Amino acid sequence: FFRPLDMINTVIEMYPKGLAGFERYRKFLETEPDIADRPGAGVVDRLKGDIVYRDVAFDYGTGRRVLSGLNLAVKAGETVALVGPSGAGKTTICSLLPRFYEVSEGSISIDGMDIRDMTMKSLRSNIGIVQQDVFLFAGTIRENIAYGRLDASENEILEAARRARLESVIAALPSGLDTVIGERGVKLSGGQKQRLAIARIFLKNPPILILDEATSALDTETERAIQQSLSDLSEGRTTLVIAHRLATIANADRILVVEDGRIVEEGNHAVLVASDGRYRQLHAAQSGA
Ligand code: ATP
Repeated sequence: FFRPLDMINTVIEMYPKGLAGFERYRKFLETEPDIADRPGAGVVDRLKGDIVYRDVAFDYGTGRRVLSGLNLAVKAGETVALVGPSGAGKTTICSLLPRFYEVSEGSISIDGMDIRDMTMKSLRSNIGIVQQDVFLFAGTIRENIAYGRLDASENEILEAARRARLESVIAALPSGLDTVIGERGVKLSGGQKQRLAIARIFLKNPPILILDEATSALDTETERAIQQSLSDLSEGRTTLVIAHRLATIANADRILVVEDGRIVEEGNHAVLVASDGRYRQLHAAQSGA
């Protein structure tokens, strides 16, 4: 008698929590009190993904320039890795693209249009972000994958899960896609959370991708599998990678070395390793050479 009653109780408790978690996440992504759409900002459809930063300068309002005179052009479909010491400005460069912050000087355009002339919502619908800390809300795996595409069909969700190599994880769970995760549900491992985040982006299918590579250690095999999924994900999309590992850097079409908010070197791995500059030093330090 008590067990079913207890279960009903748990479900009743869990349901609003799941919704509340979902709401919080939606609000977190949508609330941007300081940055609003310009009057006359236009809705953009699917962009191609040609990105140009022109003479960009930025400070966080502290009076200290974090970026200055930054020029960067990324062609549609290209993968560019940003490397450089901690605090160099890699994350800042990427957060200006979805307009988490506004440039202080200069401009950023996509397909020739200033991103300030696009509505925030339509701009962001073109950008997928995979971050180190995956935000999951209390709810089912299905809801967590379909966040951002609530109209997705069962098949689309399963296909996204397959492409993110999450299929076997889901198959092993008690209720498959309907398994509840989070505090009161099944706890996912770091690698599984990363895959879920990747599945989300496969489903969203944006032309532009920002990958903030995880610095926290996953075991080598998981790391390799995730790396492979990320490389599948970036296929055919303009990708900016905040890179910490040599593996990702080697896959990039182009590497930019960022220091003190400026791009100090640029080229592919072979070219940069052959020249006696900062990249070679960073590479030597990382590979233990
Ligand atoms: P890491 O490799 O450690 O992630 P990074 O190259 O991504 O570093 P950023 O995070 O872009 O560097 O930081 C660039 C500079 O901006 C640093 O000096 C940092 O302290 C500062 N900074 C970053 N975020 C903020 C913020 N929200 N407010 C004020 N200063 C900030």
